[in-house]
Amino acid sequence: MTPVTGTLRRIGTSTSVVLIGAPGSGKGTHGVVLAERLGVPYLSTGDLLRDHVARGTTLGRQVGAYLDRGELVHDDLMVAVVGERLAELEGRGGHVLDGFPRTVAQAEAAERLVPGGPAEVVVFLALPDDVARERLAQRADGRSDDADGATVEHRLEVFHVETEPLVGFYRARGLLRSVDADQPPDAVLTAIESVLRL
Ligand code: AMP
Repeated sequence: MTPVTGTLRRIGTSTSVVLIGAPGSGKGTHGVVLAERLGVPYLSTGDLLRDHVARGTTLGRQVGAYLDRGELVHDDLMVAVVGERLAELEGRGGHVLDGFPRTVAQAEAAERLVPGGPAEVVVFLALPDDVARERLAQRADGRSDDADGATVEHRLEVFHVETEPLVGFYRARGLLRSVDADQPPDAVLTAIESVLRL
């Protein structure tokens, strides 16, 4: 692992990053690589929920319809699920969070959940809607919420209404770093590493 140096603020010995971006902005692709690079666990709430749906757990049965419609799962439920997972990941040197928080209410709850907040730095992957639409139409992993045009439109709308206010929320806290996600994957990763001073 390359040691984290420079201006990335560290809480104790941990390194915690939150990724924010529209569907298709590359949070998953880059989150996995970044977590590996930092030597910390990667947590995608979308992956976690899809896994519950696939296994038919109680949680999966509760949230399946929300995922299919591109609706957000209720804040209280998400905060409980993520809180439990973060508690399990404690002592692992931090985390890369993809998909949480997704609303200002979740971000506020996360500040109560994690001493010092869930992130030392928040990376916003900025992407025009048209590019997001094209990418989701081409996404190869066959997610049902990518296949239907109306669901994709709804997810973009939900992103702008519910999630984008987090940009201001974290900018006000001095934690926000914006990256132009409308570039080839290698260039986006380089840009992320650059804002993290890796
Ligand atoms: P993602 O893989 O991040 O695009 O998430 C897929 C779906 O999971 C979303 O469209 C929501 O239905 C649900 N989801 C994931 N994370 C959250 C969250 N933090 N709050 C509410 N719903 C979420």
